[in-house]
Amino acid sequence: MTDQNKAILVVGGGITGLTAALEAAESGYEVVLVERAPYLGGRVAQLHHYFPKLCPPYCGLEINFRRIRSNPRLTVYTMAEVTAIDGGPGDFSVTIKQRPRYVNEKCTACGKCSEAVEAKIKNPFDYGLSEIPAAYLPHELCYPYRYVIDPSIIGTEDANRAKEACPYDAVDLEDSEKEINLTVGAIVWAAGWTPYDPTKLENYDFAKSPDLITNVQFERLAAVNGPTGGKILKPSDGQPPKSVAFVQCAGSRDENHLPFCSTVCCLASLKQCTYVREQLPDTECTIYFIDIRAMSRNEDFYTRVKADEGVKFVKSKIARIEATGGKLVLEGENTATGEKFTAEHDLVVLATGMQPNTAENQIPANVSYDEYGFAISQPGIYIAGTCRSPMEVQSCGQDATKAALEAIQTVVGR
Ligand SMILES: Cc1cc2nc3c(=O)[nH]c(=O)nc-3n(C[C@H](O)[C@H](O)[C@H](O)COP(=O)(O)OP(=O)(O)OC[C@H]3O[C@@H](n4cnc5c(N)ncnc54)[C@H](O)[C@@H]3O)c2cc1C
Ligand code: SF4
Ligand code: SF4
Repeated sequence: MTDQNKAILVVGGGITGLTAALEAAESGYEVVLVERAPYLGGRVAQLHHYFPKLCPPYCGLEINFRRIRSNPRLTVYTMAEVTAIDGGPGDFSVTIKQRPRYVNEKCTACGKCSEAVEAKIKNPFDYGLSEIPAAYLPHELCYPYRYVIDPSIIGTEDANRAKEACPYDAVDLEDSEKEINLTVGAIVWAAGWTPYDPTKLENYDFAKSPDLITNVQFERLAAVNGPTGGKILKPSDGQPPKSVAFVQCAGSRDENHLPFCSTVCCLASLKQCTYVREQLPDTECTIYFIDIRAMSRNEDFYTRVKADEGVKFVKSKIARIEATGGKLVLEGENTATGEKFTAEHDLVVLATGMQPNTAENQIPANVSYDEYGFAISQPGIYIAGTCRSPMEVQSCGQDATKAALEAIQTVVGR
């Protein structure tokens, strides 16, 4: 075998892909990591804190970025996707397409291009809760630490303004899509998940009130690098909420939406109650739940949050959320007593589930999927993390290590 046939391709630079890539590279294999976004870290980078220890995700991510920087066997392509895979275990031919960033490696992240452009775009890092200039750093701690010019301003005066403003000749308006062709021996697919689209929940007036948000948006509201600098404020008027509701299984375990349990959104809401209670001790939280599922040895975390008198648990199914006259009214049935109720809250968080990215963006190879779109490993192509099954970060790490080992066994054993 050639060295190329011993190389391993990892697709997806979230916590799963990062772990798999580093495990394989540090075991001595050439690894190519392909990430669709302009930065590594995936959705974990967008969390405020993460359970079970409630530390900021950047503690762990920064260690991984340091390991990447010091490993010459690991090549990273951001803004890139795999468009074709041919061949089989030990000899895959892979085509990668890389979108233009319009900013080259001379960028020092000085921010002058950003100050020069006039157009604004919705900030994808804040799940649309803020706007940023169309020349932007994806976020303050991003890897690679380099600006991006949004394609929407290419060909406009704004793009010329960005180029003229750059003191380092780093804006490259001639940048174009690149094709990269590789031979690799094995593939780890770790393309992760997407939050379920809340606009599909017809009984919940999602688009009608800025104070009806999703759990991923709530992470950004609490994050110090988020739209409010970490202050939990109602998007409608910038005031702190007096009562916050968490609506569990919003679209999950429902055959019209996501029929499965995402396993993390109960813990995410419990965690988000701790954000509220620490920052706004007079604010009450109510969790409307079908069952509380505290997976992966997190039962003690549930017990801790339950001990707080400021967090109420109502076993129920919320049938409707109405946005009327600036208020959010929940209608539901208490499934413990059978009573119907209505309740008003200032801020309502939908605990939406995790949809595998492989459901809508399939792997360009002959791979099978389960009924929900989670991909299934096959010889030479190993699926890891949340595009294999819903799971939290710790399980992603274990899954990634397993997939890296399977990939290594594929390339050494031939
Ligand atoms: C509200 C909420 C809070 C949470 N809080 C916690 C918590 O506190 N603790 C915890 O342990 N877990 C938490 N989780 C779960 C955690 O977010 C996931 O376990 C984690 O994001 C999974 O990592 P991943 O790498 O599998 O996927 P992702 O984070 O989705 O990363 C996948 C990466 O692949 C990239 N990608 C996608 N498609 C392609 C493609 N075709 N080609 C190239 N790249 C691609 C994406 O851009 C992304 O960077 C939470 C989840 C939710 C919903
Ligand atoms: S592209 Fe140029 S102006 Fe923009 S941040 Fe980078 S170095 Fe500064
Ligand atoms: S983890 Fe909780 S909120 Fe999420 S789908 Fe499962 S039961 Fe519902």
